[in-house]
Amino acid sequence: MGRLRTVTFADGRIDRAAHRRTDPGLLDRLLADPTTRVIDLAGDGFVIDDTGGLAVRAPRPEDAGADLAVFLGETTGGVREAYVLVVPSVSAGQVPALGLRDLVASLDADRASLVATALGLANWHRTHPRCSLCGEPTDPDLAGWIRRCPRDSSEHYPRTDIAVIMAVTDPDDRLLLGRAPSWPEGRMSILAGFVEPGETLEQAVAREVFEEVGIAVGSVDYVADQPWPFPSSLMIGFTARAQQTELVLDSTEIAEARWVAREEIADIIASGSYRPSSSMSISRSLVEDWYGGPLPRRRPAP
Ligand SMILES: [Zn+2]
Repeated sequence: MGRLRTVTFADGRIDRAAHRRTDPGLLDRLLADPTTRVIDLAGDGFVIDDTGGLAVRAPRPEDAGADLAVFLGETTGGVREAYVLVVPSVSAGQVPALGLRDLVASLDADRASLVATALGLANWHRTHPRCSLCGEPTDPDLAGWIRRCPRDSSEHYPRTDIAVIMAVTDPDDRLLLGRAPSWPEGRMSILAGFVEPGETLEQAVAREVFEEVGIAVGSVDYVADQPWPFPSSLMIGFTARAQQTELVLDSTEIAEARWVAREEIADIIASGSYRPSSSMSISRSLVEDWYGGPLPRRRPAP
């Protein structure tokens, strides 16, 4: 996790027990074992219990007919509990469920990691139903961790899209914040972008910063990274030092960008001209790492 205090989805201590996935009877056996812990994903949301928290239940006979089951791994503290994701054959809205963004605040680190894994895998299964070589519908295998083509036996692995996100500072240690054209006024973040084939992470940081705001960066240093299953990214966080301060914006990617000093932060949050990213994002964690602690909250209007 690096030097940040916490990174949502990155701090769980789950044993993925990958060696168990090759056992062809594993899911059937786990779904017949009353000690197995099952979580359900219905549509885009995880099924919740009466308290509004993540429902964690024992297996049921109908799980055998689910659209998808995945062995997620085992908890490691004390008694090892095996977790299985079930995507039941129900449509969204038939059962009470919450999206991960709304659920995450109520989850401990282990469960946050489990549900991030579950959502990333479920998103991949949903969007990759066919063989990319021959077009035949594929079947889940290895306890839900791959899909296999019944025609040519090719194996298809879950994809993770690698993105870099960088806290760029100038020689006065001001932080660069930018707003994407689709974001509302006031919503600003540090810059980010996807890594391209044939590119190192450091090169991706330098390219994205130059493309978006016309700034060359010098030292680029890794800080921490975060699984981000919306739908399937890994966000790799860096600091980078700008070699100049004059911003030249690419208006298709950035609607506005500015340097901010620490002393300005409280005022621009209070005035509404800076609305920080969600506290579950590594974007926010990197800003707070630069700031030196939690960002001040916006005071409610009197
Ligand atoms: Zn095929």
